[in-house]
Amino acid sequence: MSRAICLLSGGLDSTTCLAVARQEGFETYALSFDYGQRHHQELAAAERVAAHLGAHAFRVAHIDLRAFGGSALTAEIDVPKHRSAAEMGSGIPITYVPARNTIFLSFALAYAEVVGADAIFIGVNAVDYSGYPDCRPEFIHAFEHMANLATKTGVEGHTKLTIRTPLITLTKAEIIHLGLAAGADFSLTHSCYDPTPAGRPCGQCDSCLLRAKGFAEAGLADPALA
Ligand code: ZN
Repeated sequence: MSRAICLLSGGLDSTTCLAVARQEGFETYALSFDYGQRHHQELAAAERVAAHLGAHAFRVAHIDLRAFGGSALTAEIDVPKHRSAAEMGSGIPITYVPARNTIFLSFALAYAEVVGADAIFIGVNAVDYSGYPDCRPEFIHAFEHMANLATKTGVEGHTKLTIRTPLITLTKAEIIHLGLAAGADFSLTHSCYDPTPAGRPCGQCDSCLLRAKGFAEAGLADPALA
């Protein structure tokens, strides 16, 4: 059975990715990060999702990106609220974590070598998050090329490692439909950048607003808000 590393944040997109990998027949190895983010609801969600979708393994790598800060997710910077679609669509948001996907994919690459995986699934999306430079297809292609130069298996030519981005051109509503069709349970997921002390989504950050818009466009209620 082919193995896949699935980067899992516990949100809608990575949950859909894991469900798709499983549906394609991969034995899945879910990988989450405790990177010094300001809340841990997402790690709890990731663990629930990995269990629900039958991941063969669930690992949390600890890497402290607070060493550099520079993002509202890793430093004491306010998370923007109530931004319009136009505001979200222009510029690179303060919730961008510098080089995050490069760092995450590098860890996934190391894990892939160890377990002999030939695919890495990452839920990047170039539609809703067009402001994130490390969500672009050009970045993913470049990383995949590098990965096959960097690894033992790449040199020995047994298998080619592929970086799979099944969501990259989908809208949020399309991602929701894809995930549901693949067996995802979105009631287990968490997307908010700035949850309340009780762990509830704030309903006002970019991530909450995009999630709400996605469910509205999909014609569905968000089961995590029930
Ligand atoms: Zn929020």
